[in-house]
Amino acid sequence: MTTIANINAGTNTNTNTIFDSSQNLIQSGRDVLMNTYSQPPIVVTKGRGTWVWDCTGRAYLDFVTGAAVTSLGHSHPRVVKAMEEQLQNIVHTSNLFWNEKQIALGRKLVDHSFADKVFFCNSGAEANEGAFKLARKFAKIHYGESKYQIVSLKNSFHGRTYAALSATGQTKYHKNFDPLLPGFSYVEINKAEALRSAVGPETAAVILEPIQGEGGVHTVNADFIKLARQLCDAFGALLIFDEIQCGLGRTGHLFAHHLGDVTPDIMTLAKALANGAPIGAMLATDRVASAFQPGDHASTFGGNPLVTAAGCAVLDVLTAPGFLEDVCVRASYLKNALQKIADAYFDGAHVRGSGFMLGFTVGDMGPDLVTRCREQGLLINCVGGSTLRFLPPLTVNREEIDEAVSILKAVVCEIK
Ligand SMILES: *Cc1c(COP(=O)(O)O)cnc(C)c1O
Repeated sequence: MTTIANINAGTNTNTNTIFDSSQNLIQSGRDVLMNTYSQPPIVVTKGRGTWVWDCTGRAYLDFVTGAAVTSLGHSHPRVVKAMEEQLQNIVHTSNLFWNEKQIALGRKLVDHSFADKVFFCNSGAEANEGAFKLARKFAKIHYGESKYQIVSLKNSFHGRTYAALSATGQTKYHKNFDPLLPGFSYVEINKAEALRSAVGPETAAVILEPIQGEGGVHTVNADFIKLARQLCDAFGALLIFDEIQCGLGRTGHLFAHHLGDVTPDIMTLAKALANGAPIGAMLATDRVASAFQPGDHASTFGGNPLVTAAGCAVLDVLTAPGFLEDVCVRASYLKNALQKIADAYFDGAHVRGSGFMLGFTVGDMGPDLVTRCREQGLLINCVGGSTLRFLPPLTVNREEIDEAVSILKAVVCEIK
């Protein structure tokens, strides 16, 4: 069995020297990189499956996956092969020309979703930027100049560029960056009355994450999503689902909205779409997509052959028969194990989320638990200040789940 103990058994050499050189490397990082992240003191240099190694050779179980990005595990052989082959052919054509991998990935996304058309970009924030531009143009063409309001949820996360930031319903991210874009407002998740009073004739779109990720693994309930759909239909507004984190198999369904029966007009994807290669996608129905004409929107790198080749491999794995069913089985195994820990040590805190997007409230000991788990060889993170979040690769096996759970349990016992 692969365990942290026997993986690390091969690592000897002069531990102090290696440690010093890794600390020197981190200091060089502080010297040259802008101070926008507060990373723990490790440099990650290698990954395979559920495991990553730091530059001292130490192994960790990765239950963060770069925030739901490497969903098929690190260096998934099919993705590696697709990218290696593509590197030999062509990396970049720009969108001045057609590229066959982009067409192929577009086809796969259309075949497996409500959408008829796809626009490719490089990140989640950019996918949302595209969605807002499309929604506003659609509203202007069909309803006139004053229909441009965008309603989003409090506690949401839609990215760091200006429109995405303006849609993000968390003031801590807005601080010192105003003025934000005009026309954005926020309603409390699952509060029907608040949504009713926020959506009206001037609303161009409502955007929501079916399961909020950075906001702390909060699921939008079925009635609220239905109401959002009804209100959008009543006022000629578009419903946008940000599935950048919760989409692409994360919940055990290809898309999180497949858990319910409401279909959006626009959906944004990114994170897991190319298993680590930078990509974003904005999908829409024909009716909506037709608002965009040549010149309206563009991206130099968007959907380039290298990343869309990776994306094609990802979609093939995710949609292979039985893959997602198996994800659901292993995910409920993890959920049960986490619920036991929550019951025993956190007053029965409810383990929230679906599939391999799980979290529970641990109060103010969250950051300390994250640090101690890392010291014991398990990478997890804490969102919203108090929610432990678990985002293992969809390919994680039961032994790895058992080991992660036993590290967490030991760490919790030690603190409590
Ligand atoms: C991560 C994330 C984004 C932003 O994606 P970037 O690639 O970092 O720009 C947007 N929405 C959701 C739901 C996310 O989780």
